[in-house]
Amino acid sequence: MELWFTEHHTEHVKFSMKVKEQLVNKQSDFQHIAVLDTEEFGRVLTLDGYLMVTEKDEFIYHDMIVHVPMATNLNIKKVLVIGAGDGGTIRELTRYPGIEHIDMVEIDPMVVETCKEYIPQTACSLEDKRVHIYYEDGLKFVRRMRDEYDLIIVDSTDPFGPGEGLFTKEFYGNCYNALNDKGILVNQHESTYYDEYVEAMKRAHQRIKETFAIAKVYQAHIPTYPSGHWLFGFASKHYDPEKDLDVEQWNALGIKTKYYNTKLHLGAFALPNYVKEQLSEY
Ligand code: SAM
Repeated sequence: MELWFTEHHTEHVKFSMKVKEQLVNKQSDFQHIAVLDTEEFGRVLTLDGYLMVTEKDEFIYHDMIVHVPMATNLNIKKVLVIGAGDGGTIRELTRYPGIEHIDMVEIDPMVVETCKEYIPQTACSLEDKRVHIYYEDGLKFVRRMRDEYDLIIVDSTDPFGPGEGLFTKEFYGNCYNALNDKGILVNQHESTYYDEYVEAMKRAHQRIKETFAIAKVYQAHIPTYPSGHWLFGFASKHYDPEKDLDVEQWNALGIKTKYYNTKLHLGAFALPNYVKEQLSEY
């Protein structure tokens, strides 16, 4: 009998992939965790039935959430990552020798343990000496920090369940305080293609715009996320991701990427007209 994983993208749209084998099926204190081995996308992590990473297309998300801010300010030394239990964001960050310290705050230790065992492709750098893992709610962790980080990356689940608080005005304000005077905040910003997601995305963008001097949105093509069109938020007290991109210096680092390059970096900020309109509606 054939086994299929189906994710509900909207009330009227479903996305399915054929499963070879279910490797993990368990409940943590926070969410249901599954790892599936699939024909097309390799191993796949789902949380509460929502797809988080697949071995086949995770490089797109992780390249874009890490290399865009890193190429904008090549002097980033201290980073806070919130969520990111699969380890992919940490893997990309540890490729920068200039980064000295990474704090990762993940609410659910079971996600990290599961990915270390079943998805080493993303979890492979969590033992790096610069990485310090804290198991707690990112919302609470960031409240205690002042003037601490060059970069905060919010690699969270969607704005419901444990990830809900990471899309609030209070959280963005606390991130602002936790960053130093040139700090950058990058977050996964959902998609706007389906009407169901538009309001949440517009609200999040508005809250970020009210908090930071610079607030932009950039995009990537991620086949397994709803609609395949995904957005990221870039906010900063000082750096502009288009004007401050250091093409020569970033390329001189020799970091080999599968998706990101400096031309694509600039192109990613050129948004379709309908998205520009949605973002400017407030
Ligand atoms: N790339 C993914 C996506 O957008 O689908 C996100 C990947 S990562 C697995 C998301 C992680 O955020 C999960 O492991 C989840 O446990 C964690 N998370 C959710 N809410 C959190 C919170 N309030 N504080 C810290 N981590 C949180």
